Amino acid sequence: MNTVNEITEIPLTRQFTSATIPISNHEHKMNSPSHMSLALAVLGRKSRASLNGAIIWGSLTPDLPMYVLYAYEKIIGTPDKIIFNEKYYGELWQSVVSLGNSIPIFVIIALFAYIKGYRGLLFFALAALLHVALDFPLHREDTHMHFYPLSDYKFISPVSYYETQHYGHFWSPIELILIIVSTYIGLKALITRWGQLTFGVVMAGATLLQVTMIYYQWTQAGFE
Ligand SMILES: [Zn+2]
Repeated sequence: MNTVNEITEIPLTRQFTSATIPISNHEHKMNSPSHMSLALAVLGRKSRASLNGAIIWGSLTPDLPMYVLYAYEKIIGTPDKIIFNEKYYGELWQSVVSLGNSIPIFVIIALFAYIKGYRGLLFFALAALLHVALDFPLHREDTHMHFYPLSDYKFISPVSYYETQHYGHFWSPIELILIIVSTYIGLKALITRWGQLTFGVVMAGATLLQVTMIYYQWTQAGFE
């Protein structure tokens, strides 16, 4: 009887401790570079390289409010644990971060830009929408109010981009492939050597981080 208990209890305990402790270091890891390479691969073309800046900014904008709030909390000395477990779910964070991830806001910007013929603004909004679309099926309780400020509805996906309890360890290798393929395609949209080099270095870093993430997920969370 004891043996049965041990068999059933050990993996549970290990999953609990490892999934919440080591992986929490990667918790809410900002996977902004994957959004950048995806946007460049999908929307970027050498023939319209002048729009690359708008595409890159658009792909990063949904995450920017989070960086600003995070930087502020770090400056005033709030520990990460409090930031991600309490502040993140507070009213200020929820509304500011949701504004950056709001589907209606970027749709309105895209429509306005299309009507007015502002190509830069249009591609900025499209890249932001692509970011939101990728986040949509990959966030759980940490998701945003997708239709803010029209509605406070949140889609809680069964899949998380990092939590092993919610298939994060299956998503992460897919994201790795996505990073590599979109980096390869995205590089072709860049025309300056300096741009290619910067993008290449950033994405190499992102690839390394993703490999580390996969390693943690598959070894520490008890899947080895
Ligand atoms: Zn995001």
